[in-house]
Amino acid sequence: MISKLIYRCPACSGFDWLQGDRCVHCGASVREEHQSLLTINSRRATIAYWYDRVLAFDLPVGKNGLIFESGNVKLHKEKFRQRYAGPGGVAAILYSREFVDRVSAALFRDRIELAGKKRVLTIPFTTLLSVTIESNVIIVVDRMLGPLFLEFLQDSGKKWEDGIRRALVDYKKPAEIVEFFPRIILGKELKKPGPDPPTRRPLYSPGRKPEGVPSHPVYLMARRLVRAVVSTGLQID
Ligand SMILES: [Zn+2]
Repeated sequence: MISKLIYRCPACSGFDWLQGDRCVHCGASVREEHQSLLTINSRRATIAYWYDRVLAFDLPVGKNGLIFESGNVKLHKEKFRQRYAGPGGVAAILYSREFVDRVSAALFRDRIELAGKKRVLTIPFTTLLSVTIESNVIIVVDRMLGPLFLEFLQDSGKKWEDGIRRALVDYKKPAEIVEFFPRIILGKELKKPGPDPPTRRPLYSPGRKPEGVPSHPVYLMARRLVRAVVSTGLQID
């Protein structure tokens, strides 16, 4: 459904706009020509072009700072499942998702609010660490609440990802956000001078085994195998 991606009318910028082949706000006519082409008010262009138009609009900020609200959202949080310890000191932690509540989400100019039947979770932009999308699920990581998974059952997930990111950009101005995932990074953070170059010997150098890490027979075999493949691959007839 094209309104999942083109979630605002490219002609009038209204949300929840498409019904049949018309915008419910301004009456603009819409025709899908092809998988990648869309004609709006007789102008034929690629979906990428129309999406850029959507992204160029400002967010409509109401008097109390409210930008938009959602319908039903399934809220999950991250849950520790098990720890894995493999050979050679390799360790990993496996997480799963645990259902928390059915909520409705509200995006404000400085926060996200998730209102359930019993309580409201608030994610201020000051503690929001990252935003990304996976299918129609928005994954936000808050410093206090940890990772939260917002599965939008009625709304476009893209609308929410773009909306949160744009609200963050406006909130952080004049600082510039250069990355939203895996961590929100400001341009000025990248320009900070790093620490002085290390003077001590590095813990690991090519050809030298990291200290305290035993060479497992499997790794030794794998290394020999990779060397054999690489040396074979580099042979020139
Ligand atoms: Zn319209």
